[in-house]
Amino acid sequence: MDLKICAAIIVIMATIFIISSPSSDDGGLQAPVIFVPNAIIKEMNVSAYCPCVKCCGIWSDGITASGKPAEGLIIAAPPIYAFGTIMDVPGYGVATVQDRGGVIKGNKLDLLFPTHQEALNFGRQYLKVKIY
Ligand SMILES: [Zn+2]
Repeated sequence: MDLKICAAIIVIMATIFIISSPSSDDGGLQAPVIFVPNAIIKEMNVSAYCPCVKCCGIWSDGITASGKPAEGLIIAAPPIYAFGTIMDVPGYGVATVQDRGGVIKGNKLDLLFPTHQEALNFGRQYLKVKIY
């Protein structure tokens, strides 16, 4: 499925759940305010990269480990996260796992940026990532 369509569906679904949640003054039913199905939130050690030789070495051919071009919003994640896994990274956006990295292990993620400077600007951050 196209990533943009995927992201749009998630936003629409999340909005519906927020709108359809009963408010606290209509009968006193205890209901979650926001319910996102199958999503977990995990604190991740997030770094950034770009398709350049400095970031990717011999893998700087512009193609990710999943075979998709290294463009747009792409996450490199450890193999426990299958290609296509959707993640919502604060300050980056909703993106899918399409890449791997030798040092991307445990709770580490690497975010693709179009230029080396943007990757440097992002640096390394500990972020609460929503994983679908
Ligand atoms: Zn780079």
